[in-house]
Amino acid sequence: MSRSAHPAGPRHADVLPEGHYSAPPADLNALDPKVWARTVARDEHGVVTVGGIDVKRLAEEFGTPAYILDEADFRARARAWRTAFGSEADVFYAGKAFLSRAVVRWLHEEGLNLDVCSGGELATALSAGMPADRIAFHGNNKSPGEIERAVRAGVGRIVLDSFQEIVRVAHIAQSLGKRQRVQIRITVGVEAHTHEFIATAHEDQKFGIPLAGGQAAEAVRRALQLDGLEVIGIHSHIGSQIFDMSGFEVAAHRVVGLLKDIRDEHGIELPEIDLGGGLGIAYTSDDDPREPYEIAKALTEIVTRECEAARLGTPRISVEPGRAIVGPTAFTLYEVGTVKPLEGLRTYVSVDGGMSDNIRTALYDAEYSVVLASRSSDAEPMLCRVVGKHCESGDIVVRDAFLPGDLAPGDLIAVPATGAYCRSMASNYNHVLRPPVVAVDGGEARVIVRRETEEDLLRLDVG
Ligand SMILES: *Cc1c(COP(=O)(O)O)cnc(C)c1O
Repeated sequence: MSRSAHPAGPRHADVLPEGHYSAPPADLNALDPKVWARTVARDEHGVVTVGGIDVKRLAEEFGTPAYILDEADFRARARAWRTAFGSEADVFYAGKAFLSRAVVRWLHEEGLNLDVCSGGELATALSAGMPADRIAFHGNNKSPGEIERAVRAGVGRIVLDSFQEIVRVAHIAQSLGKRQRVQIRITVGVEAHTHEFIATAHEDQKFGIPLAGGQAAEAVRRALQLDGLEVIGIHSHIGSQIFDMSGFEVAAHRVVGLLKDIRDEHGIELPEIDLGGGLGIAYTSDDDPREPYEIAKALTEIVTRECEAARLGTPRISVEPGRAIVGPTAFTLYEVGTVKPLEGLRTYVSVDGGMSDNIRTALYDAEYSVVLASRSSDAEPMLCRVVGKHCESGDIVVRDAFLPGDLAPGDLIAVPATGAYCRSMASNYNHVLRPPVVAVDGGEARVIVRRETEEDLLRLDVG
């Protein structure tokens, strides 16, 4: 196992055991609908198309690498979450997965709310017209300036992450003559079935206030005494890329336990609980994510059952999917620059991007798949590693993949499921320019985030 693997094994995350690769797929040209955006297909010439446009045209018009986002798919997934939870619950899209003004508008139109966790994300949300009362502000170290902007803007909720922040937000709200709606983020001691680096609800970590030792109850006690705060609920986020609902079950049980203690001590029933995000998507054909309606049904049942057992009214539920909405809607389009066979090992395929546009493989040992996109091929499969152009041997995009043996420089290859945490975590390492995000819908393509230019780089570098 690699250095950062989850101790409980590969099924706990998007962790790839070292030396693991499955047999070549039966058909290298196939596009598994599990990992591809909904409108992706191959046309009669074998070229991959999305939203009715083929990737050769996209590469010509917008260059490579580029993130190609299927707008209809994004809207459909956002709507599926919204519909699955109905009017009894709220869906907050986690902006950190990927945020742009177009995305904010789509979310607004589809009836979703939005999580932000920095001044920059808040500015993006507000500038694209998301009503402030539909924004939740997160983060374990919001600056006083960020808090003030959020309170002034009138965000629907601030999620409090520490004892110091309880006082800080209360003070700022009061000095502005406001009463800020807040949730208190607690850690319930649940270790989600996910990668260690992105698990967030076990106790030894930076987020939230531990339920253990009565700390969460004490946080509620203090917050209830402060005039600047209106405590509306409890928040719990247990991790990322989760497939197994049992973590949410335990988390909900513990959150409801706290609601019951609060009722017994203070005589009030807090009206909301937020169960966070973290729902997994298929990065490869081996992953089997659940549909939003199944997740909604399971979560609603869990909370209802727990509340009945505790003789509490059922609070309003909210959830915060990021990856599960945007992840599958985009792929990264690269041009192959070199193809280097290493005898008895594998073939290294170098593309015109790399760890600067997808850090997840290097950071989390994340698993991806890849296809030849600019044509189909009947050549024999060859075992490949798709690597970037950075000065770093860990610069890997797809660790183990089969591509056709006739792959050559100039071919376009596409890596699916890169909608979440790729553009949003992109860097300028080696002064490589961050790729654009191109939204495709109904035969039309348009840039929603433009490619970075050398001018952009030099503008920041003031000499
Ligand atoms: C990251 C995060 C999410 C979204 O996680 P996904 O894995 O993208 O669904 C939701 N809520 C909080 C508080 C987060 O930090």
